Amino acid sequence: MQVWKFGGTSVGKPERMHSIRELLLTDPSRKIVVLSALSGSTNALIAIGEAAKANEDASASKQIDDLKAHYDSFIKELYSTEAGLAKGQEIIDNEFGFIRSLVGIKPFASKQEKEIVAEGELLSTQLFQGYLEEVGDSAVLLPALEFMRIDADNEPELEKIEEKLTAILAQHPDKQTIVTQGFICRNPREEVDNLKRGGSDYTASLIGGAIRAEEIQIWTDIDGMHNNDPRIVKRTFPIRELTFEEAAELAYFGAKILHPSTITPAKLRGVPVRLKNTMQPEAPGTLIANQSSDREIKAIAAKDNITAIYIHSTRMLNAYGFLRRVFEIFEKYKTPVDMITTSEVSVSVTIDNSEHLEAITAELREFADLEENDSDQNIICVVGNFSADKEGIALKVLEAMKNIPIRMISYGASEHNLSLLIHSKYKAEALNVLNERLFYYEDAMKDIFTAP
Ligand code: ADP
Ligand code: ASP
Ligand code: MG
Repeated sequence: MQVWKFGGTSVGKPERMHSIRELLLTDPSRKIVVLSALSGSTNALIAIGEAAKANEDASASKQIDDLKAHYDSFIKELYSTEAGLAKGQEIIDNEFGFIRSLVGIKPFASKQEKEIVAEGELLSTQLFQGYLEEVGDSAVLLPALEFMRIDADNEPELEKIEEKLTAILAQHPDKQTIVTQGFICRNPREEVDNLKRGGSDYTASLIGGAIRAEEIQIWTDIDGMHNNDPRIVKRTFPIRELTFEEAAELAYFGAKILHPSTITPAKLRGVPVRLKNTMQPEAPGTLIANQSSDREIKAIAAKDNITAIYIHSTRMLNAYGFLRRVFEIFEKYKTPVDMITTSEVSVSVTIDNSEHLEAITAELREFADLEENDSDQNIICVVGNFSADKEGIALKVLEAMKNIPIRMISYGASEHNLSLLIHSKYKAEALNVLNERLFYYEDAMKDIFTAP
């Protein structure tokens, strides 16, 4: 079995849903098809929830009307029969009726907010399933809320997911296509919850890992993982092969094409992940697996909204136990640390979740001196296979960055990652100069020396 995930733009227009069906028909394997919400829907639903939370019910109601109008016209082109259209209208009326009833609940709590946000995937999957039924394909809709579970720390419970999903799949041995929602899940309080923005990729990987799929395919609007952020850098190109480790670093450090945790379950269960372009299905895309071609430097990514905390030990020399005390505080506040650098009496760390920043710094001050935090920082991450020629790589990176102030450097923790902390105002410049130096400089030099 394979798992194919289609993102927001891949389901965002009725003709795109038609193309997904065509794509499914080109491949004979049985598939679980994970869908995101139609592009723009999750943002719109979040805005509706925010209006409801602020008791701006008239605004929430207007936004619901606008979003519903979008779906009303969407189905007119999705379906070609009266019966199909009537079924689609019933789905929309039901779900939007539910959204309206949620907005009316006061006080409006995070539980209702999450239920509203989940509607995007609930709508897209039901409408797509309706279309497959209309054209007579062998398909069934599996509600993700019946098997996708997270624990009290918001971590997916792979074993539980496996157990529930295996039992549910056994009830549909004859269905060729099994459609389900990305992104949404249930928490231990049995409430509707989600896997954070972009979470449908993670759903696909969790399902692929749980059923030990032959392959997980992530279908999006670009021909695979590029060597740099194509939204910021002009000359980028798709990478044909990445190892799980390289892809995990890129996703974690900001390559938006994948949710940061996508690779974890696939790697754990050894399921290859292929990134493909819905608009250009013949393009090879990117294959993520145990092995990859051995080009040294593969790609660059940038992670936004980073805060750096600079901590000095007040005990000065030989302060053993100091790091343990520092990290216990981050653990207490469930705040992951991304980068760390140390000197004899100081340690600097970065975090991207500053929800508990004040409490963390207050506790650190009980035994350490703190410099003022730097917010609005950016981690620039160079990823590749650095097992050979280490000095050469660091040299090229630092040479490219010679005009950009660097706040921290992290290198050597793995053979796949060199990270630099800079102020976010230099992000675009850093991505561009690194791109030129790491991917085009040698070719340019060759041209110069071989020119007649
Ligand atoms: P989907 O809605 O299908 O999940 P996303 O918008 O989440 O799609 O991800 C695809 C987008 O990720 C691309 O359109 C591209 O702009 C952006 N992106 C950022 N960095 C990269 C990268 N290194 N390689 C490819 N795409 C990237
Ligand atoms: N619809 C969700 C989002 O926009 C999940 C996803 O698209 O992956 O974040
Ligand atoms: Mg995405």
